[in-house]
Amino acid sequence: MPVVSPRVYLDHAATTALLPAAREAWLAEAAQVGNASSLHASGRRARRVVEESRESVAADLCVRPSAVVFTSGGTEADNLAIKGLFWSRPDGADRVLASSIEHHAVLDPVAWLEQAQGADVRWLPVDGLGRVSMPALEDQLAAQGTVALVTVMWANNEVGTVQPVADIAALCRAAGVPFHTDAVQALGHVPMDLGVVGADAVTLSSHKIGGPPGVGALILDPRLAPTPVLHGGGQEREVRSGTLDVPGIAGFAAAVTHAVRGQEQRARRLVDLRERLVSGIRATVPEAVLNGDPGTGPDERLPGNVHVSFPGCEGDLLLMLLDAADIDCSTGSACTAGIPEPSHVLLAMGANEGQARSSLRFSLGESTTEADVDAVVAALPGVVSRARRAGSLASRTG
Ligand code: PLP
Repeated sequence: MPVVSPRVYLDHAATTALLPAAREAWLAEAAQVGNASSLHASGRRARRVVEESRESVAADLCVRPSAVVFTSGGTEADNLAIKGLFWSRPDGADRVLASSIEHHAVLDPVAWLEQAQGADVRWLPVDGLGRVSMPALEDQLAAQGTVALVTVMWANNEVGTVQPVADIAALCRAAGVPFHTDAVQALGHVPMDLGVVGADAVTLSSHKIGGPPGVGALILDPRLAPTPVLHGGGQEREVRSGTLDVPGIAGFAAAVTHAVRGQEQRARRLVDLRERLVSGIRATVPEAVLNGDPGTGPDERLPGNVHVSFPGCEGDLLLMLLDAADIDCSTGSACTAGIPEPSHVLLAMGANEGQARSSLRFSLGESTTEADVDAVVAALPGVVSRARRAGSLASRTG
């Protein structure tokens, strides 16, 4: 039986509950023994589970099974794509093009390539909604033979803006440059036919879609051979070494199937809940500012994302006051929460430091109900006025 929490959980973009189908698949394999690289019957059985999972993930995402490289999650897949493609670049191609609103799992490897490996990094600007500048990308790609790779996330983890990934992929293909996209937040929330989109490398993570944590994949064009980040036994096309996590992979495959089937119907429900939350916030805290794309379409914004700035408040304090009211949310990326820095995403979108510090992200998911949304709307006015009082007190005494 799932544990029923009395708390309101609106942090599904950080992680989301294990789905029954993923749990069942994981448990069935956790009871077995066998290394998928061993030659005996137990090993061959484990290998069969891995290959069936690979075929299932590939069929769900419309790619060939040989394109699926299992990893330990989104962070590893991002590092493999970015470092691996840079290290295996053709001579003279030292430039890396990355959007300025990437998750730290992309941002930091790109910055490391610049500092430690001499990469010539160009950060692509975004507009006020968080959408990457296509003219800037075209300009950079015009310098033929100089670009090693382009990386632009499919959907932003903070403000939920969806990027025109198919258009970016087409530009990169025409320029002969590999295109990587971090689709960790997009999978399960927007339609995802990778056969049509045509990106060369796509990052996925299991725990964001109801699979077990610690597993994910890089969907990698079989013609590409990035230099490995992890050297060892040569599992996964000699691109990624390490004993395969068979239970994790089986659970992940079940979660991908769920993410893809019924996606549109679930997105419609989430959009309705989101609109209920947005209009509730507007009615009770009229000075709140909604960040990101106000559109509701799958090319515009993630269906379950609400990102709001509360002028005059510190986001961290709002988070703690809501926490005390049994409501879980985030100031943005869970991976940087706790470090009181303004959001690099909002700064790139043109916000000032105060705005970039005053925001909260509510990310809705499958278990979210109207009662959850109403609880947040009821709690917010009191929480916001307490945070504002604390802010003005601090500025008077500080
Ligand atoms: N990329 C994005 C956009 C994310 O939101 C996250 C996690 O928050 C990651 C990458 C990292 O994925 P993982 O937790 O599987 O390492």
